[in-house]
Amino acid sequence: MFYSSKQGARDALERFLPRAGLDYARARNFDYGLERRDNVSMLSPWVRLRVMPEWELVAAVLQQHSVSEAAKFIDEVCWRTYWKGWLSRRPTVWQDYCAELAAEQASLSEQSRYHAIVSATSGIDCMDAWTRELLDTGYLHNHARMWYASIWIHTLKLPWTLGADFFFRHLLDGDPASNTLSWRWVAGLHTEGKTYLATADNIQQYSDGRFNPQIQFATVPADVSRSSRNPLAAPHQRLAPLPDSDRVGLLLHEEDLSARNWLGEQVTVHATAGFIPQQCYQTQRIAQSVFDFRHNCLRDALDGSGEVYTQIDSVVAWAEQANITVLLMAEPSIGIWNQVLPELQQALRNKDIQLVCQRYWWDDHFYPHAQAGFFRFKKAIPAAIEQLAVEN
Ligand SMILES: Cc1cc2nc3c(=O)[nH]c(=O)nc-3n(C[C@H](O)[C@H](O)[C@H](O)COP(=O)(O)OP(=O)(O)OC[C@H]3O[C@@H](n4cnc5c(N)ncnc54)[C@H](O)[C@@H]3O)c2cc1C
Repeated sequence: MFYSSKQGARDALERFLPRAGLDYARARNFDYGLERRDNVSMLSPWVRLRVMPEWELVAAVLQQHSVSEAAKFIDEVCWRTYWKGWLSRRPTVWQDYCAELAAEQASLSEQSRYHAIVSATSGIDCMDAWTRELLDTGYLHNHARMWYASIWIHTLKLPWTLGADFFFRHLLDGDPASNTLSWRWVAGLHTEGKTYLATADNIQQYSDGRFNPQIQFATVPADVSRSSRNPLAAPHQRLAPLPDSDRVGLLLHEEDLSARNWLGEQVTVHATAGFIPQQCYQTQRIAQSVFDFRHNCLRDALDGSGEVYTQIDSVVAWAEQANITVLLMAEPSIGIWNQVLPELQQALRNKDIQLVCQRYWWDDHFYPHAQAGFFRFKKAIPAAIEQLAVEN
């Protein structure tokens, strides 16, 4: 379903574009099942890696639809930027999630319902079908993700962190911001007083009658008071401008595969390589299929301009051999890279190589608005659309 290449993303976008306007707004909430997915774009695995970045997607949609027709689709694309901006300004939410997850994993008993759910043997038809779909394809429709998380947290009373981790390890688009914060939102931790409670009727209607769940759905939210609340947002920090150097290298990584374009426009690059921190993927037990998809997309984005490395030592050896003094990369998001970045920075510094992170204007424009809820955030969309019009 998902080819690990830019061409794969372009083809999927091409197929979807005619439906990205009012059709999308009308039908996006229906999960018709694996055989009929043309009401949504299914672009998320590529958007996640910025094989197809948000700005490219919005610009392409606006070539075929007016701003008002495409408003719903643009909003959804910007939800991703919102989550990323929100988490970047509250990084402790990810740390707290990791700590809480580790504690839940340590106390997980053999008999827990958890094992039945994640092996698709719970006996709850819809849950088992969604689990199988997730494991087989690495994708779930947005509504199915909401129902799944709601049943997991509120009906089955399982810890939300274990569910978030299960999604994170198997979704091709698995993303620390969108995934963790969506699970928090369903649990009622994101917006004070707001939880998402799935109902049998809603599932039956929006699964187009494929499911008619007979379980007793929770009507009151589960107690999640043990989880940490939202911290205050830290100020948005601008990054330092590019330092002067005539030996600049570019390190492309799986958090932003568009960076070869936008960083390459700012500076003359002498050598390019790719890096995906395999050790972190293994430590977090991320599915091999997810790692392979990202690894292959990274190779495709390099297009023969450099090697893909999976170890810090190999990156440092390459940079040294290429005589690089400044190594440029896109700022990685909060999550998988939290641990890798300081290690990479230190290993390069030991060889007198400076690691410099840069951020694309899209993120610098939006992140200051990820202050509270999406409603306030979306007021920044028109200015971004204007900027895109100037560029294109
Ligand atoms: C519990 C839960 C977990 C989720 N985990 C992830 C995740 O790990 N990674 C992820 O990318 N999305 C996540 N989402 C958001 C959303 O479900 C997916 O982005 C969407 O289903 C992807 O399918 P699509 O590409 O067909 O989306 P479309 O409806 O075609 O939307 C187009 C693009 O907009 C973005 N988008 C759409 N809806 C959302 C949303 N609600 N939040 C953030 N971005 C959105 C995606 O990049 C998507 O590709 C999660 C949602 C829930 C409820």
